[in-house]
Amino acid sequence: MQTWMKRSLGVAAGVVVLLAGLATGLSAMDAPLPVPTQNLPDLGASLPPASPPSGLGFSVLKTSESQGVFEALEVGGGSWLRYRHPAHVSVLVRHPKVTFLFDTGLGRQVDQQFAANTFMDRLSFAYRNVAPAVDQLAKAGWAPDRIKLIVPSHMHWDHVSALPDFPDAEVLISPTEREHARHGHAPAFLASQFAGVQHWRELSFKPGAYLGFDRSLDLFGDGAVVLVPLVGHTAGQVGMFLNLPSGQRYFFTGDTTWTIEGLQKPADRSWALRQVVHVDHDEATNQAAIVHVHRIMQRFPQLTVVPAHDENVVKTLPHFPQFQE
Ligand SMILES: [Zn+2]
Repeated sequence: MQTWMKRSLGVAAGVVVLLAGLATGLSAMDAPLPVPTQNLPDLGASLPPASPPSGLGFSVLKTSESQGVFEALEVGGGSWLRYRHPAHVSVLVRHPKVTFLFDTGLGRQVDQQFAANTFMDRLSFAYRNVAPAVDQLAKAGWAPDRIKLIVPSHMHWDHVSALPDFPDAEVLISPTEREHARHGHAPAFLASQFAGVQHWRELSFKPGAYLGFDRSLDLFGDGAVVLVPLVGHTAGQVGMFLNLPSGQRYFFTGDTTWTIEGLQKPADRSWALRQVVHVDHDEATNQAAIVHVHRIMQRFPQLTVVPAHDENVVKTLPHFPQFQE
């Protein structure tokens, strides 16, 4: 072998060893979150009662997906060999009293909205295959005004982009989340998405405890749709329990984690990513929320937990126009 060839091979091997060492070193910062053994919220012995009305069902509208990210960055302990494409979804809930969306996913105006970002942020948060909820609904003959209410899990750009597509809908949000969004800035919050909202409705929780959350909001008084505070990722993020007539139960957990693995382990987003991007409003509070959801999953394995962006979980759910009842 010629000397230059040997030298090139040596350099290449060195780079591989260096990268592998770096990946191992970074992953070492990502030990699972400790689960305390005392002073934890009481989850109760059984799932709370619910009397869901017949006709209640839900359907997922996948509106886009991320260009991709290494799983090891998305979740501590994830693989550097798996490349993930987080989904941007809206969840359509058809309740006999109101048909509403939990999150909107990306909307018709996302390109204009997204232009407010810097070049680097446009690269980091790049998306593809946009199919706005309003267009998917229209294909099935649904006019936008059939959506009477929108409940964002939180007001980050990828959850409220389609608010302008449903101008008649009420938007149910806590004053805290709305205030933080109003004072927020790109890339997390994009004012153009919510500046034109006509019908805000104030979300306020009631004192009733629900699966260890000290407050909750039973949206229709039948235990079918129950919102709980899942604060940490943002100042006012909410989670949604959905209890169907079939007995199937779901818990939509917003961006507490980006993957189901994060809740199973439990693990935060990777340490390395959290050094570079300011992802959470309050990291410690969000980690407590991760542990809380983890405990709920362990106690009640019959509950299907859905992190907003986990494409692997999302693909197991019914997609519009199919409904799960
Ligand atoms: Zn998100």
